[in-house]
Parts: sequence; C-alpha cells; structure tokens
Amino acid sequence: MTDQPATSLWSSDLVLREAVARHGGQVHETRLAELGELAGSAKARAWGEQAERHHPVLHTHDQRGRRLDEVEYHPAYHQLMRVGVEHGLGGGAWSADPGTGAHVARSAAMLLWSQVDAGHVCPLSMTGAAVPALRADPVLADVWVPRLASSDYDPGLRRAREKAGALAGMGLTEKQGGSDLSGTSTVAVRTAGGALEGGEGYRLTGHKWFCSAPMSDLFLVLARVGSSDGPLTCFVVPRVLEDGSRNPWHLQRLKDKLGNRSNASSEVELDGTWGVRLGGEGEGLRTILQMVNATRLDCVVGSAATMRAGLVRAVHHARHRSAFGQVLVDTPLMSNVLADLAIESEAATVLGMRLAAAADAAAAGDSGERALLRIGVAIGKYWVCKRSPVVLAEALECLGGNGYVEENGMARLFRESPLNSIWEGSGNVIALDVLRVLSHHPDSLDALVAELHAARGASRRLDATLDEVSGTLRTAAEEMASDPSAVTGAARWLVERLAVALQASLLVRSSTRKVADAFLATRVERQGGSCLGTLPVGDRTTRAIVERSVAI
Ligand SMILES: Cc1cc2nc3c(=O)[nH]c(=O)nc-3n(C[C@H](O)[C@H](O)[C@H](O)COP(=O)(O)OP(=O)(O)OC[C@H]3O[C@@H](n4cnc5c(N)ncnc54)[C@H](O)[C@@H]3O)c2cc1C
Repeated sequence: MTDQPATSLWSSDLVLREAVARHGGQVHETRLAELGELAGSAKARAWGEQAERHHPVLHTHDQRGRRLDEVEYHPAYHQLMRVGVEHGLGGGAWSADPGTGAHVARSAAMLLWSQVDAGHVCPLSMTGAAVPALRADPVLADVWVPRLASSDYDPGLRRAREKAGALAGMGLTEKQGGSDLSGTSTVAVRTAGGALEGGEGYRLTGHKWFCSAPMSDLFLVLARVGSSDGPLTCFVVPRVLEDGSRNPWHLQRLKDKLGNRSNASSEVELDGTWGVRLGGEGEGLRTILQMVNATRLDCVVGSAATMRAGLVRAVHHARHRSAFGQVLVDTPLMSNVLADLAIESEAATVLGMRLAAAADAAAAGDSGERALLRIGVAIGKYWVCKRSPVVLAEALECLGGNGYVEENGMARLFRESPLNSIWEGSGNVIALDVLRVLSHHPDSLDALVAELHAARGASRRLDATLDEVSGTLRTAAEEMASDPSAVTGAARWLVERLAVALQASLLVRSSTRKVADAFLATRVERQGGSCLGTLPVGDRTTRAIVERSVAI
C-alpha cells in the first residue's frame, strides 16, 4: 500500500509544466505527459517498490568456480531502466538530433521518473554524463556515443558492436578517499595491442571502493600512469573486449546501503584490466570533471524529484485524513506545514529547470550560459541536495505513524534523501568548489550576478537582498584572490546565501506573488522559525500555495 494518488505526475505538477514551457521544452510536452501518466500509475509504482525490495544479487563465480562478476536484477528494475532509456534519461539529450530544449526535457523527465524509483536513475545519469567527456576523443565517441544516446535499452554483457544501446559508469573513489582523488592508487601500464577501440591501450591494476551500476558496458576510471605517483589519467574501461572476452572486473561485494537499494554499488578489483586512455596523460581530473559536472545537475533534479514525491504524498494524505473533526489540510497549522514544503519543492524545481535551460544554451554555444551553469550547478548541488532530507523528514511526519511504516513509501524516500548530497562531491567539497569557481572564473561571477539581478524591480525586498548578496560576492572574490584560506571556513554560509538569493530571484520571476513573498520572508529575510511550517502568513495564503502545488 502506498499512500499516493493514482494521478499523472505531469498534469498534477503545474510548477514543472510552467518551467518546461518557460524554458523552451514545449515540443517535448506530449512525451512528458505520457511519462507522467505512467509514473503516476499503480503499475510503475509497483515496479519501483519491487526493484527496491528485491535487492540486486551478486554472482562472483559460476558453478565451475570461474569468475562471472555479474549482478542479477529483479525484472522490475529492467522495466524501470527500459522506460528511462526510451525517454532519453540516459544520453538522449546528446543524441544526433535531440530537438530544442533537450536538456530541459530530459531534466523534466528525470524529475517525473525519479519519483518512481531514484536508484535506477544513477546508471541513467552516468550514461548521459559520460557523453560530454567521451566526445573529446573522436574514435571513442564514434564507438560509444551513439549507443549511450540510444533510446534502446539493451542490457547484458556483450561487445560494443553487438549492442543497440549501452550504459556507462564511473570508477573514481578508492578506499583512501573519494573527495581527494589525488590519492588514487590504481596504476595503468601501457600495453601493446588490444587497442581495438582506438586510442592507446593500458593495463590497470588496483581497486575501486564505490562503483555503482557495475553491469554497465563501460566505465570512466581514474588511474596513475606507470606508477603510484605517475600522472593521474582517465581511462575508458569496457566490460567486454572487442574479441568477445571479458575484461577483468572482479566484483568483490555489493554495498549494503541505507537507501538507493535498487541500484547496485560495488567494490571492484582491477587486475590487468584493459583500458584506453581518454584525454592526455595527467589530464584525468579535467577529463572526469566533465562527467561529474553533468551528474551534479542530475543530483539537483533528483533531489527536487524526491522532495516533490514527498510533498505529493503529504498533501494527498492531508486531503483525505481527518483529526479532531477537521480534514487535516483545512487546519491552519497543517496548511502552513504543507505550504512551506510546497515552497521548498517549487524553489528546487525552478532552480533545477533553470540550470537545465542553461545546459541547453551552453550546448548551443552560449558562453554566458555556460559560465552560469558552471557556478549554478555547484550552488544548486550544495543547497537543493541539503534541503532534501529536511523536507522529507517533515513530509513523512505529515502522515503521522503511517509515514514511518515501510510499505507506505515515505520511508524509502527518506532513506534516499541524503544521498545526492554525498556522492558526486559531498557538501563541503561542493561549497569549496563554488569558491574555486568564483576565484578562477570571473565570467561565472558576472553571469551569476546578472541572473540574480534579472529580477530587479519586481520586489523591493528582493532588491535589497540582491544588493547585499552581490556586495558579499564581490568582497569574497577579492578576499579569495589575496588569501583563499580566509574565506574557506565561511564557504557553506556563502553558498547557502547565494542559493536562496538565486531561488528567490527565480521565484519572483516565475511564481505567484504569494509563493515568492513567503519564500522571501522566510528564506531570505529569516522571519520564519528553524522548522518548516513557520511561514509568517495567514490561512488564505497557505491554502493558495498548497492548491497551486498539487492539482487534485
Ligand atoms: C550510494 C553511493 C554510490 C556511489 N557510487 C560511486 C560510483 O559509482 N563511482 C565512484 O567513483 N564513487 C561512488 N561513490 C562514492 C562517492 O562519490 C564518495 O563517497 C564521495 O565522493 C565522498 O568520498 P568519501 O566517501 O571517500 O569521503 P571523504 O572524501 O573521506 O570525505 C568525508 C567528508 O569530508 C569532507 N571533506 C573532504 N574534503 C574536505 C575539505 N578539504 N574540507 C572540509 N571537508 C572536506 C567531505 O565533504 C565529506 O563530508 C558512491 C557513494 C555512494 C554513497
């Protein structure tokens, strides 16, 4: 039993529909409506619950003791993957002819489909994100990009040329650390021959401590060339070699995780594993960051989806549950809680979709939007992912004890909620990354200030905040130029301030006056309390905000 309405997740989400239209995604609306209908159906919900409950199973060896290194997934997982790939959640936005607003459409589809199950979206996200990195190498791009961008879901370990569609993963994190990749200890030694997929072949030896979706067809892997202090370099490692043999990819264990259980995350030993270099020797971080930056945008959108799923369940419950003779949604206090959840969810959605629009513009060659994307994704990744567990805890409580029970679905969302803040750069690392962008990329600082100020004149309270935040930004950039260590301790504070200012600027331009004013009062001017449900507004306002958030 899941306490969730059987309704289209697209038609009930006005905020998302407005964002898609605002950012040029109209041509994709029919497909999004189809996906939203399916995502809200009992059938899809059952897939999500089954894929989560029936964990992936690792088979290290076959019956004769030979290495197998395969993960078996429940059929429901494959159904979820098939729909996701068919709707472009993998590399669809990078296909030969994605159409206008392709990243906006992909992010909107991710926001819808992630609500069914977040776990399987991990391999889809990595598949899309591998494309920008692979494009740097024409030979590798020729082999892999059409398959990663394909709308065919084609699971199973076979050579690239036998596959209609392919999936990608990444192997960065080792036991000694995932944030500081300078400690990478996997070693790659150049090898003669075997480079059937182009580029220079290497044999990799070492381990990867966290490697999700280990049944993917290829992985972008970091290793040091020659020795453990050699240049850090990126390699493309296929699971099956061109002669049809298996590349050594020894799966030791699957992680027993808090959430995200439909997705297998493994520990892998590399033992003379063949890989081909992507990018120059010593350019590993620069190369892999292209992939990581793309997955960070998906983290923003994925967290917006988790919040949205919690909000929808909370509102649905409150509309159908009575206490003390009143339907919960009609009580002033519950209405305040739901409205506060709705505001946070809307702010997350509009920011994620604005960044997706920047990705479209950047792909079309707009340098200003590329500069905005660089800093906006880091700001969004920090803040939206941090808000997710806060929102989910409160949304769960709206269902009372029922929310705490596993079969209801809220517990699963709650377990999922901290993850996006951890992987692809944990909170501190992302906050420091924002500082790095501010000090190294003045064009990103200018693009951010311009985006903030695009709302100037719409609200006097926002104008005052914009002046303050812009001043703080410039001062921080100057201080960093002279002494970066003086600012690092305040990184979280600065990024949070930037994030809420950016969300306020977007809401003032895109949402209703009630939503924008309530956001400004609580998040910017801090008139609310520490908990959600402390909006300093009356019943009529909170009701209007809740009604806007989830159409009946
Ligand atoms: C479910 C799941 C799936 C994953 N899948 C993959 C995958 O497919 N491929 C892959 O490569 N990795 C994967 N990871 C690993 C993930 O990317 C890392 O866990 C993450 O990058 C953090 O690295 P770490 O765990 O080693 O923590 P550490 O690097 O040890 O960091 C610990 C803490 O210290 C903080 N910190 C680090 N540096 C600083 C600093 N300079 N100042 C202040 N604070 C700092 C961090 O923010 C963090 O809070 C996965 C993780 C999870 C949970």
